Amino acid sequence: MCFILSHCPKLIKTLHATSIGSSKYIKHCAQSSRLLSVMDKNGGPVQNYDFFLVLDFEATCESSVRISPQEVIEFPCLKVNAKTFKIESEFHHYVRPVHHPTLTSFCTELTGIIQETVDESEPFPAVLARFEAWHAAELPADSRALFLTYGDWDLKTMLPNQCRLSGVPLPPFMRSWGNVKHLCADVRGSWPRGMDRLMKELGLPLIGRHHSGIDDCRNIARIVELMCRRGAVVSETGSLGSESGARNH
Ligand code: AMP
Ligand code: MG
Ligand code: MG
Repeated sequence: MCFILSHCPKLIKTLHATSIGSSKYIKHCAQSSRLLSVMDKNGGPVQNYDFFLVLDFEATCESSVRISPQEVIEFPCLKVNAKTFKIESEFHHYVRPVHHPTLTSFCTELTGIIQETVDESEPFPAVLARFEAWHAAELPADSRALFLTYGDWDLKTMLPNQCRLSGVPLPPFMRSWGNVKHLCADVRGSWPRGMDRLMKELGLPLIGRHHSGIDDCRNIARIVELMCRRGAVVSETGSLGSESGARNH
C-alpha cells in the first residue's frame, strides 16, 4: 500500500507503509490530516466524495460599472466522477434576465452570449427548477457530492442574490461548496489569480472560450483533475449559514 504526502508544496513524497511504520498508523494520519492521503488505484488520493458538481455562472455585466441587480444568464453544471474524473452528465441552460433584459455589448464580448440566446431562454425560476430536477435524477440520495467553483462568488453571492431577486428558495443542497483556488494553493503553494493565467502556468490548454460558463466548467474540471492527481484532497471550503444566505452574502 502506498500513501502520498500532499498539500505541502515542493514536499510531495510517496511513502511506503512498510518503511515508516504500520499502515494502520498512516491511515489514521491520512484521515486526521490534510498532509497524508490514502492513494486510490487511479493514481490520486482517495476523495471523500463520489461526485464533484462543477458549476460556473455567467451574469449580466458592464465594463467598469456594477450592474444592479446582476442576473444569471448562463447556468452550467458538470457531474464529474470523483474517482475517474469523467464527466458523467451535463446541465446547461441559458437564462433570460428580467431586470436588465438587454445584454450590454461588453457582456456579449466577454461571455460570447448573444441577445437572441437569452431572449429565447426561460427566466431563472424555471431554469432553477430544471436544475433541481436534474440534480435529483443524477444524484442518488445517498451519494456524496460537492459543488466546486473557481472562487466563492457563484454560490456565496450570485445564487443567494438571484434567488432573493426571483423570490424562490435557495435549494438546501446548494449551500456549501469547495473553492478550487484552495486546491491549487494547497498543491502549488501560492494563491492562483485568473483561471486563464493559471491554466497557462499548469500547461493546460484552455478549452473553448474563457468566460463562457460551460467552457469554464470544463476547464475547472480539468484543473481539479490535475490537482487531485498531484495529491490534492477536495474538501468543502465555504457554506452559507442556516439563516437565509441571501441577505448576508
Ligand atoms: P467568470 O466566471 O469569470 O466568467 O465570471 C462570471 C461573471 O462575472 C461574468 O459573467 C460577469 O458577469 C462577471 N465578470 C467577469 N469578468 C468580468 C470583467 N472583467 N468585467 C465585468 N464583469 C466581469
Ligand atoms: Mg466563474
Ligand atoms: Mg465563467
